Amino acid sequence: MLLRLVFVTVLLGSSILVQFKDRESLIAPPLLVLYGLIATVYILTFIYIIVFKRLGPSLRFAYVQIGLDTLFVTFLIYVTGSIASVFSFLYLVVVVYASILLYKRGSLIMATLCSIQYGVMIDLEYYGILKPFDTEAGLTIQGYEESYVLYKIIMTMVACFLVAFLSSLLAQQTLRTEKELKAKQKDLEQLEAVNASIVHSMDSGLLTLTSAGIITTFNRAGEMITGFSREEVLGRPLSSIFPHVVQHAASSDAPLKKKPYRYDVEFKKKDGTAGYLGFSMSSLKEPDGKHIGKLLIFQDLTAFKNMEEHVKRVEKLAAIGEMAAGIAHEIKNPLASMSGATQLLKKEATNTPVARKLMDIVLRETDRLNVLANDFLLFARPGSDKIESVELSSAIGDTLELFRKNGICQNRITVVQDLAPEVWTEMDPKHTRQVLWNLLLNAAEAIDGTGTIQVSSKTAEDMVQVTVKDDGCGMSEETISKIFDPFFTTKAHGTGLGLSIVYRLLEPYNGRLDVQSRQGQGSTFTLYLNRIDPPGLLS
Ligand code: ADP
Ligand code: MG
Repeated sequence: MLLRLVFVTVLLGSSILVQFKDRESLIAPPLLVLYGLIATVYILTFIYIIVFKRLGPSLRFAYVQIGLDTLFVTFLIYVTGSIASVFSFLYLVVVVYASILLYKRGSLIMATLCSIQYGVMIDLEYYGILKPFDTEAGLTIQGYEESYVLYKIIMTMVACFLVAFLSSLLAQQTLRTEKELKAKQKDLEQLEAVNASIVHSMDSGLLTLTSAGIITTFNRAGEMITGFSREEVLGRPLSSIFPHVVQHAASSDAPLKKKPYRYDVEFKKKDGTAGYLGFSMSSLKEPDGKHIGKLLIFQDLTAFKNMEEHVKRVEKLAAIGEMAAGIAHEIKNPLASMSGATQLLKKEATNTPVARKLMDIVLRETDRLNVLANDFLLFARPGSDKIESVELSSAIGDTLELFRKNGICQNRITVVQDLAPEVWTEMDPKHTRQVLWNLLLNAAEAIDGTGTIQVSSKTAEDMVQVTVKDDGCGMSEETISKIFDPFFTTKAHGTGLGLSIVYRLLEPYNGRLDVQSRQGQGSTFTLYLNRIDPPGLLS
């Protein structure tokens, strides 16, 4: 509608100017007609707008408008000299925009309308039924040869149909490519959404690097594993979060070209905790094979490594235990005979004081050997034949009572207790006592001079947590890493079996032992045991 207005104004306006120069009057009849035409178009456009507001985009309305346009053009051609008019090309313009709006069908209909109107108009004039509009303008139509008139009509028709055909072809093609493009766009958007959700939902961390080592992609699992958020990581070099990985990445450029590689490395999370990372790296390529960076997929192996260590320790203990049990058995019998024989010898009246002293030493040392052999056996075959429900606060309380009376505590160590009442676990009571005893003994041995041991218990969901805390000498990192190894001891007369036994005893109950300690600042051992409902409730 707008284009029509502009077109009419410019075209007819300019022809008014041209005509005006010829006639030197503003009210010559052809000029009046042009004025009228311009006014008609403006009024029509006004009506169109109102109708359009009512109907909205409608195909039928477009047919009406363009159909009226053909009438308008025919009239214009008639007033500007029909067969001699310069405006017959306007038919083609109408046909072209009909093809854009109405495609093939519409443009062919419009071409037909134009042809009929042109033919009828020229014929009527030729046979004198229609008077030429502007008789002063020179030649009338009868002045032309009949063949020329026919030729002109046919050419106009052919031109109309040809243009209708070609331009609708083009319009249709444009429509098709537009549709295809839209479909492709939709596919692409879907594909992108699927891709993004895959990367987002996978359990493994994923990051991509440019060839310069700058991080460009980082998924949600990556955030969980490392503790860094996407915003903190994107655009930064890899070395800022995984310094260890970078060493591997740098040293592995050559094999990288062939296939992905796997590595296990240590790494530090954002909060500083250490962990293990398993990652594989592969080359990131564009579809045409151009290398544009690297792709890293990584998993948090910390829990897995810890488990592995635990399993290794258990296996080691079991192997050593088997051997130790055999030896301990063999040692215990001769040891009993030796200590019995020495005790008899000691009673002999003829003994000199020196001999007595020597025999005391033998007895003391056989006692120690006996303790060691017992430890061995306990460690090797803990034997849990009497599993029953144990009320922890009283079991621990009894053990502490005994411990306070033990020689190692007397006048030196204060034992404080803070126990949650009525907490039950399932365990051999002998084992409960032994575990606690070993921890208490270690705590007391760690205290030089006077000190305090705090024993407390508390519940957490289906677990009980028992802590034994001392203010003794504490341990270095290195010591901590070895204390569960059998025979590891830092004491002159230690066996190094105390904690190994604890470990072994807890195993069948799925119990756990944690340790926290600093050199010179005391140690805290935490026991985790499964908690059960009080047996009274069940019966
Ligand atoms: P042992 O007591 O015979 O040395 P254990 O297995 O009981 O053997 O303990 C191993 C080592 O762990 C000890 O030698 C000691 O160095 C360390 N340790 C255990 N408990 C404590 C503690 N409460 N404070 C400091 N060090 C401890
Ligand atoms: Mg010990």
